[in-house]
Amino acid sequence: MTDRTANPDHAEPRPDEPPVLALRGVRQVFDTPRGDVPAVAGVDLEVRRGQVLCLVGESGCGKTTTARMAAALAGPTSGSVLFRGRDVAEMDRKERAAFRHSVQYIHQDPYASLNPVRTVLSTVSAGLRRHGAVRGRREARRAVTELLERVDLTPAEDYLDKYPHQMSGGQRQRVAVARALAMNPEVIIADESTSMLDVSIRVSLLNTLGRLRDELGVGFLFITHDLAVAKYFAWRGEIAVMYLGRVVEHGPTPQVVNDPQHPYTRALVSAVCEPDPDLAGTRERVRLRSDDIPDLTALPPGCDFHPRCPSYVQGSCDTERPPLVRSHDRLLACHVLTRG
Ligand code: SF4
Repeated sequence: MTDRTANPDHAEPRPDEPPVLALRGVRQVFDTPRGDVPAVAGVDLEVRRGQVLCLVGESGCGKTTTARMAAALAGPTSGSVLFRGRDVAEMDRKERAAFRHSVQYIHQDPYASLNPVRTVLSTVSAGLRRHGAVRGRREARRAVTELLERVDLTPAEDYLDKYPHQMSGGQRQRVAVARALAMNPEVIIADESTSMLDVSIRVSLLNTLGRLRDELGVGFLFITHDLAVAKYFAWRGEIAVMYLGRVVEHGPTPQVVNDPQHPYTRALVSAVCEPDPDLAGTRERVRLRSDDIPDLTALPPGCDFHPRCPSYVQGSCDTERPPLVRSHDRLLACHVLTRG
């Protein structure tokens, strides 16, 4: 296993450095008995080395579908997923294997993603053995011990021979992170990976992930419905807010969180109930025109958010869908905010 801490390449990425992972106009349309469901309707995102991009939105907004396409667990209906500039769909077997190494996916439920009849040692060393990174049990034990220490499961010896049911949710999720790290990833896609954990355990795991980002230069595509978590983990990164399969606001985290512009982001920020002085209590509650989320099989004309939007303007918001365009320090999809 390569020790990435010693690699000077893991310093801050250069501004001109190309993204490790890029989504270009990706769409995912599901064919259902009720009709076509456009779960993701043209999303462009980039994940860079050592940087965090948080994808935020209500459940069902297309975050997980986007994440699965980014990890090539599902092919897009159209658009491309690029790894170091190369279209994943055009990769040969060898290239795809390298992609699978470099882009690791951590699921929401560690209990479901870990094999219940495998010990921690067996789970974390499986990839190392498969790729010939370790030979023999002693070498595997030593490599897995290092990985467990890296994700703060210490003393590692206490965990090597445990089964998933003998650990807490937070410990299981750390095992899932260690398994991902065993592949020496450039990007980790974390899909609601802390949402099932208690608050203190969640914060501790986020701190561990943040350390991995800084020490190893791992980039994160971090999926969460929780703006407070996004703010905590991606403060030096970016947030992209999704609504009904589209990004409606995307920019540096401090700007998006402290000065949300899009009416949907403002509603999300105002609804945060975490005891966070920046996110809650200091903001006026945004009252939506409707709490009902439109059916994806029968989207309204114009802006998807217009039946709920408090800033709705008749004649433009209900006739034309606003494109995502740059407006000062961020990207926004809103007629009212982006028309001069
Ligand atoms: Fe609201 Fe209109 Fe902007 Fe859509 S385009 S978010 S309906 S103001």
